[in-house]
Amino acid sequence: MSHLLSIENLGTCFDTDDGVVQSVRQVSLTLDAGETLALVGESGCGKSVTALSVMRLIPMPPGRFTSGRILFSGRNLLELTEAEMQRVRGNQIGMIFQEPMTSLNPIFTVGDQIMEVVLRHENISQQQARARALEMLKRVAIPSPEARLDQYPHELSGGMKQRVMTAMAIACQPQLLIADEPTTALDVTVQAQILDLLDKLRQDTRMSILLITHNLGIVAQYADRVAVMYSGKIVEEGPVTSIFESPQHPYTQGLLNSLPKEDPRAKLETIPGMVPHPARLPRGCAFHPRCPEAHPPCRETVPGWFTPSPEDPEHRVACWLYDPSRTQPVSS
Ligand code: SF4
Repeated sequence: MSHLLSIENLGTCFDTDDGVVQSVRQVSLTLDAGETLALVGESGCGKSVTALSVMRLIPMPPGRFTSGRILFSGRNLLELTEAEMQRVRGNQIGMIFQEPMTSLNPIFTVGDQIMEVVLRHENISQQQARARALEMLKRVAIPSPEARLDQYPHELSGGMKQRVMTAMAIACQPQLLIADEPTTALDVTVQAQILDLLDKLRQDTRMSILLITHNLGIVAQYADRVAVMYSGKIVEEGPVTSIFESPQHPYTQGLLNSLPKEDPRAKLETIPGMVPHPARLPRGCAFHPRCPEAHPPCRETVPGWFTPSPEDPEHRVACWLYDPSRTQPVSS
């Protein structure tokens, strides 16, 4: 079956004064129509660089692709010219960035900014573009949409700005929406409203969503599948219920154990140690200095992919613990 998005063995690095930072390492992911895939992990693990790679918005230099393909509707985005890519961005793939407050242009009205996206991609009149902008503001359930069209970003609350960003991202009815920490800057009630809105849009239009977040509570509620990233690599991937009910990778287990417990007096667990510097990754499994299960092969060789349960073939994990040829019990 062909996927809407298929990232294959992607490598993205940056040349820095500290050396080569390999931010994305051999990442492979797929996303089907109407599906929400959550990409989770701590800050700096490569989630946003993966998203920006799909959009071809990595500044080059210092960035460069070192390997792989990004197939979108069968076309390799890494081979498109910039002009071809501009026709994909905002049209077939929309993106909501982390910072709506800085992503909107302060000197243009909300209506002008949504219209500009539509006029860039569609051969329609100013009047039709304004009607579309109004329709989008209604779709994202912004209060008093007619009045908002002629307002400037500074006149809107944080939640309304995020709705405007969403309206811009979906104005051309993209097949794929990339939402990079779309609600981090918002309070909890507005967060839920925006995420419910994205989920409804997905259901109404069969749009796919690549949801990038460090918030596992959001993932549990909105994602169909989850990919967990650590130090530039995917380390575990599977259906959301498998990941939450039966996490297999020690890093995923640590992330889930660090979620707040129902009992407010319960102590929050943390993952010991620090994320390694991306220019100085340890040999073998990058998680081994923090892993309670690390054993000799982990310090030498990067783990391949294993499927812990034959009943759940979509749940895979990059960890030597699940190597079927391993016969020795693990000692830490
Ligand atoms: Fe831990 Fe080894 Fe698995 Fe890495 S490969 S997560 S170090 S057990």
